[in-house]
Amino acid sequence: MPERSPVKLPTLQSVRADLGECTRCKLHKGRTKLVFGVGSPQARLVFVGEAPGEDEDLQGEPFVGKAGQLLTRMIEAMGLRREDVYICNTVKCRPPNNRNPEPDELESCEPFLKGQLAALRPEVIVTLGKFAAQALLRDQAPISRLRGAWREYQGIPLMPTFHPAYLLRSPGEKGKVWSDLQQVMRKLGLAPGAGGAS
Ligand code: URA
Repeated sequence: MPERSPVKLPTLQSVRADLGECTRCKLHKGRTKLVFGVGSPQARLVFVGEAPGEDEDLQGEPFVGKAGQLLTRMIEAMGLRREDVYICNTVKCRPPNNRNPEPDELESCEPFLKGQLAALRPEVIVTLGKFAAQALLRDQAPISRLRGAWREYQGIPLMPTFHPAYLLRSPGEKGKVWSDLQQVMRKLGLAPGAGGAS
């Protein structure tokens, strides 16, 4: 029998190296810093957002602006720290004026998000907002219909929920996200917290 060559799993470093100083799509023209991802390579839980905003573009780190501060409070309300999880985005460069990422940009960046998830193999993925859910689930249903129900990405349980930027505009929806995150906590065996992020 011919010997099988071992399957080489990507690492976060190898995915980052493949991405390089990316010019695959037009978003590279306006970026200050490429925003790859942050957190623990051993993370049990990965959050996938949409795209870097202004603060993230300047700092090179995802979710550091207002929406990011809310995400951090949500992570802490789950009894975790930002360093315990991994946070990344569907596209790695800021769209001009924070417009929605366009289909060609999502398509160019998708292999790198998939590479990150293949390297991390987390126990649970949480997608924030419609672009991350649609990218990983290939489901065009509105996020209001997708959120709150377990799905799977490559055998990994995936919970779609609302984007924290949406919660900043619609704080009345925070309870729904907290209930989604409590489902995640139960899946990870984390004790349910008392409060939720305010
Ligand atoms: N919104 C996102 O989707 N990602 C970020 O990194 C910041 C804001």
